[in-house]
Amino acid sequence: MTRYRIAVIGGDGIGPEVVAEGQRVLEALAGVLGFECEIERFPWGCAYYLEHGQQMPTDALDLLGHHDAILLGAIGMPDLVPEEIALRGVVLAIRFGFDQYANVRPVKPLRGAPFPLANVDPAAIDFVVVREATEGMYVGLGGRYSPDAPQVAEIVGVRDVFGRSRELAVQTGVYSEAGCRRIMERAFRLAEERDGRRLVTSATKANAMPHGMTLWNDVFDEVAGEHPDVEAEWANVDALAMRFVLRPQSLDVVVAPNLFGDILTDLSAALLGGLGFAPSANLTDGHWPSMFEPCHGSAPDIAGRGIANPTATLLTVAQMLEDLGEPAAARAVEAAVREVVAAGEVRTPDMGGSASTAEMGRAVAEAAARIAAAG
Ligand code: NAD
Ligand code: MN
Repeated sequence: MTRYRIAVIGGDGIGPEVVAEGQRVLEALAGVLGFECEIERFPWGCAYYLEHGQQMPTDALDLLGHHDAILLGAIGMPDLVPEEIALRGVVLAIRFGFDQYANVRPVKPLRGAPFPLANVDPAAIDFVVVREATEGMYVGLGGRYSPDAPQVAEIVGVRDVFGRSRELAVQTGVYSEAGCRRIMERAFRLAEERDGRRLVTSATKANAMPHGMTLWNDVFDEVAGEHPDVEAEWANVDALAMRFVLRPQSLDVVVAPNLFGDILTDLSAALLGGLGFAPSANLTDGHWPSMFEPCHGSAPDIAGRGIANPTATLLTVAQMLEDLGEPAAARAVEAAVREVVAAGEVRTPDMGGSASTAEMGRAVAEAAARIAAAG
C-alpha cells in the first residue's frame, strides 16, 4: 500500500481547527482507496514563538524535507506577535526554503455558497490564478534608512519630499528571468491540461513598474510564443481587478507576480463565498515537498469557537491528493464538498448557518468515503 508522509502544521487561531478536518477527511479516504497517510504534527507558529523566541526550530526544513507534502493551517497572532515576524517565520520560510514558486489558487464557485455578484452566473466561473511566490515584492530586500545613509545616497534626490523625511524605507522587488519563465511555463501547461478556454492572462503593470514588469512581459511573450495552442493576453492589474468582478467568467488561467497575485486572490475568494472557501497550493518542481494551505489567515476574530468554515482546507486537501498522485481521492473530496455545500443542511456561520467546523468536516468526510467507495 502506498504510504504518504504528511507534515501537518496547524499554526495559530483557526489553523489547527481547520486542519483537523483535513486530517479527518484524509483518514476517512485512506481506508477506502488503498493508500495511507502517516501524519506528523508540528506545533509551530506564533504560539511557539512566544514560548521559544522563534516560530519554528532551526532544523525545521530538515524535518519537513522528508515528507511528501505539508498541510498548513494559518500563522498569525496580530495582537501578540508583530505581523512582519508572523508571516516570514513559517509560511515564507517554507515557501522560500523549498522553492515553492507556484502558488496555485483555483476559483470555481460551489453551488450553495454565498455569491456576491448580481449580474454574473457563478456556474460560468472557472479559473485558476497561478501566482509567483518566491520573488517580486515579497523577497524582503531593502531597509529603513535615515536620509543621509549611504544606501539611499542616489535615491534621496529623486523627490524633494525624500530629502525632507526623517526616514526612508526601500522595499526592493526582484524579478528574475528564470523565475518569470518557470511560473509562466507552469501557467501555460495548466491551460493546456485544463478543460477550459486555453487562455492565459498575465497580470502586469509595466507603465508604472518599468523594470520588473517589462522583464515579466518579455518573458511572457517568449513563453506564449512557445505555446501557440494557448491564447495569451496581458492586462494591467488594476483593470484586471475590475474584470475579476465584472467579467470573471472571461478568465481561464491568470499568471501574476507575487504581490498582485496575493491581492487578486483575496478578491477572487469573494467570488467563492469568502475566505472560508478559497484553497491554495504552493508547488515546487518536485524536488522538495509542496505545501498546501487555505488562502485565509488565523482569523483571530472567530478563533477558538469551533465555527470556522473548513471548506477551504478541504479543497486544499483535494489539491494535495491530486499532487500526490491520488486523483480519485482528490475528486472524491471535491465532489463531497460540492455535495455538502449544495445540500445546504450543514452550514457554518459564514454561510448563514450554525454548524460547527467539526460538523462540516464530518459531513464531508462521510460523503467523500461514500463517493470513493462507489468509485
Ligand atoms: P484572515 O483570513 O485571518 O481573516 C479575514 C476575515 O475572514 C475574518 O473576518 C475571518 O473571520 C474570516 N475568515 C477567514 N477564514 C475563515 C474561515 N475559514 N471561516 C470563516 N471565516 C473566515 O485575515 P486577517 O484577519 O487579515 O489576518 C489574521 C492573521 O492571519 C494575521 O496575523 C495575518 O498575518 C495572518 N495571515 C496568515 C496567513 C497564512 O498563514 N498563510 C494568510 C493570511 C493572513
Ligand atoms: Mn494573502
